[in-house]
Amino acid sequence: MEKQSMLKQVKSFFRVIKKSYPKIQYLLVTGSLIKAALPFVTLFFSARILNAFLRQDFKYGVVQVFIMLSIQFIGGLLGKACDERVEVIHINADDMVKSQIATKIYEIEYERLEEHQTMEQLRNADLMTRGLGGIGYQILDCYQIMEAAFSILGSLMFTALLFTQIKGGNGNFFCSNWSTLILVGIYGFVIFLFTKNNKKIAQVFEEQSKGNDKVNALAGYLLNMMLEQKNAKDFRIYQMQDSLSKRLSVLEGEGTSMYLNTAKKTGFLSARNDFLSQLCAGAGYFIIGAKAMYGAISIGNVLLYVGALNQIITAILTLTQIGNQFIYRAQCLQAYTDFLQTPNMSYDGTLPIEKRADGNYLFEFHDVSFSYPDTEKEIISHLSLQFKPNEKLAIVGKNGAGKTTLIKLLCRLYEPTSGSITLNGIDIRKYDYEEYVQAFSVVFQDFQLFSLGLGDNIAAGEKWKEEDVWSSLDRVQMKKRVEKMPDRLETRLYNNNGSGVDLSGGEAQKCAIARALYKDAPFVILDEPTAALDPIAEAEIYENFNQMIKNKTAVYISHRMSSCQFCDRIIVLDKGKISEEGTHDILVNKQGIYAQLYQMQAQYYAS
Ligand code: ADP
Repeated sequence: MEKQSMLKQVKSFFRVIKKSYPKIQYLLVTGSLIKAALPFVTLFFSARILNAFLRQDFKYGVVQVFIMLSIQFIGGLLGKACDERVEVIHINADDMVKSQIATKIYEIEYERLEEHQTMEQLRNADLMTRGLGGIGYQILDCYQIMEAAFSILGSLMFTALLFTQIKGGNGNFFCSNWSTLILVGIYGFVIFLFTKNNKKIAQVFEEQSKGNDKVNALAGYLLNMMLEQKNAKDFRIYQMQDSLSKRLSVLEGEGTSMYLNTAKKTGFLSARNDFLSQLCAGAGYFIIGAKAMYGAISIGNVLLYVGALNQIITAILTLTQIGNQFIYRAQCLQAYTDFLQTPNMSYDGTLPIEKRADGNYLFEFHDVSFSYPDTEKEIISHLSLQFKPNEKLAIVGKNGAGKTTLIKLLCRLYEPTSGSITLNGIDIRKYDYEEYVQAFSVVFQDFQLFSLGLGDNIAAGEKWKEEDVWSSLDRVQMKKRVEKMPDRLETRLYNNNGSGVDLSGGEAQKCAIARALYKDAPFVILDEPTAALDPIAEAEIYENFNQMIKNKTAVYISHRMSSCQFCDRIIVLDKGKISEEGTHDILVNKQGIYAQLYQMQAQYYAS
């Protein structure tokens, strides 16, 4: 990965963090500076204390001890405070990134979500940001890298100072700068070997991390699958548990052998690094010790200079180790920023929707055609249709005729391939998307209730008005059932963490309808949410629903003709076109598709 692109990724990551923590850069600089400075404080004062005691100046020595301890105490406290704050941000960073990904899902066009490439990007972003313990660690890495950088600066400062310590010795080699240069050369050479070694370690770690993230993702998926209660039936009947457990243990085995393999390779390289750093320390004590022996520096300062030089080794070791993780995480961030760069909805307009108490909203399709992305087949074909205000319209037709697609187009989940849809004469793309969808209450065939409180489900996340939630439940005959639930409206749905209530299919469907009623939108759509029920029960529900929403515009979708008899108008959709239109009686008399389907289905109800 190129340095520039890596920095770009990290910058965009910090932009996200800065939204919640605008002063994070000051915190990182302050904390890392304090932590880098403290070892130098110890070295500096240790040298002074030792020199004082060697001079038998106890008073001065004791004062130095006191100053050193005070600085250490205050610096230590400040450093800890910064560490804790950084730790909190690091933990929250993971959630911030995840919530950015989740928010983005709602900003891109719905139809793009169905594209393989978008889903792949989403999965990748999610997976990559979990790598190496989570993307939040990038903050801790930056923090440690900054500390190491300050530490190197400190070391360089003291090394520069060593070049000024050339008094005495009368041309003695150890009192000259030649010995210092040789020492710097040894350190430079060792740092060079260190860096080479660490590059190899990095490669090994990167390979392991990539393999490990893959294994973890697969194992995580398997585990989740095994823990899901809804899968338990199939697992038992088809006795899948053994084969799944075996797969899981194979993955665990792969993970372990990857770890062992990495440990073997990196163990040797790390031991080489340890030896090299000992070599440096030895050379440092030898040359700087000799400087003291020949009087170029005081004995106490041997501690100071050797210690300061060794700090550079520790800092470089940290820098290369953390640097490797930093680079790997920057690559992970690429997947995340790629996903965030997916274009947002291109057809989000700005017009508000006129608020009308009379529900006088006229939606119209004008010669609309539509094919799903990446497909050729026209699902809706040159269709023109008016949804008249307050009208109860039924759309019927065989499976696959395009009924749901028509509703998705109306709700702006997809955009027509050609033609246009208008609301009160204005192209719907000109309206603000969020305002536009406020106009609809839809109960889809595959409606979802969530493992949240029942009230939250009905009010769909808004702050709820308890009275209205009860009234919606009452209208779908669920009030009594909910009153008996342990926590009434606070009762969690679904028993997936051992504390919720499971609903039957019919009850779930009633709750979904209650949610549509609660929203109180001017346009209501029922898209076969009753498919699992028998035709008579479905017809009953549709008829009751019709009574409940007298003043609203409503569309009922069904492939059952009997459900629609009570509607003002019925449209028969066939291969994306309107093939018949009229009331039930007119269509039955017409002896077309509707009559044919009705008669076929009527045999069912008779039997
Ligand atoms: P209906 O509601 O009348 O049963 P739909 O509108 O759901 O029909 O589907 C109409 C056609 O569009 C079907 O052939 C279906 O396979 C196809 N279709 C539905 N959704 C998609 C999609 N996301 N991508 C591609 N084709 C789709």
